[in-house]
Amino acid sequence: LYTIADLRDWPRATADCTPPIRLAVIGDPVAHSASPPMHNAALTALGIPARYTRLHIHPAELPEALTLLPRAHFIGINCTIPHKAAVHAAVHTRHPSADLAGGVNTVLIQPDGTLHGYSTDGLGLSRAIREAFGTSLATQRILILGAGGGAGRAIAMQCATEGCPRLTLMNRTLAKLTPLAEKLQTLYPPDRLTLTDITPTTLATHLPHTDLIINCTSLGMKSDTPSPIPATLIQPHHCLYDTIYIGQRTPLQRAADTAHARNANGLTMLLHQGALSFEHWFHRPAPLEIMRTALLAHTSAQG
Ligand code: NAP
Repeated sequence: LYTIADLRDWPRATADCTPPIRLAVIGDPVAHSASPPMHNAALTALGIPARYTRLHIHPAELPEALTLLPRAHFIGINCTIPHKAAVHAAVHTRHPSADLAGGVNTVLIQPDGTLHGYSTDGLGLSRAIREAFGTSLATQRILILGAGGGAGRAIAMQCATEGCPRLTLMNRTLAKLTPLAEKLQTLYPPDRLTLTDITPTTLATHLPHTDLIINCTSLGMKSDTPSPIPATLIQPHHCLYDTIYIGQRTPLQRAADTAHARNANGLTMLLHQGALSFEHWFHRPAPLEIMRTALLAHTSAQG
């Protein structure tokens, strides 16, 4: 785990690193990130002489970090909590995916020092749903829990773009859905959209008219926390995708198991968004199965 102090004197801080570190995930916190083993496996497999690490950057350090990264010859970065929106505002160019998501999770750093921002969260989720349930977002009545957060917003925009027949956006703090609702106005028919807070009553009202439930809240990152949806409200026809990835089954997955509903965790989203990032950096197909094996090994070791 490196910090801004290391970035200020990168050649000295990484003098022992061969091949050199040219990629990182930046966040606060970031120590838990499973991205390094996944990307390092891909770099090794393709014989690319570069390594990927974790950089712990506090929000106040972000502007300086974005100046130092090109000087340290970085090829690119991933951004996680809490940097996605600030990096979106700071990059020189933004791909439409970043504007759609309202945040950047992938930056390509050109040799001239310019920063190009992308979001791979939405498309990564779309591919993960296809893999987990053999279905497309375009055919599902979708309910998103935590749609006001960074991941929830990106996923909501992806669902709307792909034209899902119904979209129910739920957030603990209802007011945080307002900017998303404004963006959706030009993109999605209002009569197919519902915005609501998360209560036992709103869940009981909307779940019977839902095919696919996507949890984007951080509820469940600790396996001993309660499920964001009680098992009694889950029906066997539901597919549940928990964007959280931990070594064990998440609380939502355990509730879905009890209700005999199909479910999956966020490992496949992490895999697919990472593979898309890799393709932005190297303009070649990512070795998906090698990345998957490395991720699985890492998360089971974390268990
Ligand atoms: P974020 O921007 O901080 O959003 C957190 C969301 O969780 C907000 O909607 C927040 O609601 C909600 N929340 C937090 N505590 C809650 C509680 N006690 N009850 C109900 N809602 C609660 O974080 P983020 O970046 O969107 O990440 C959210 C989750 O997505 C994390 O678990 C992360 O691991 C996962 N994620 C996974 C991937 C992947 O590749 N698999 C990628 C990105 C994110 P309020 O607005 O009311 O605070």
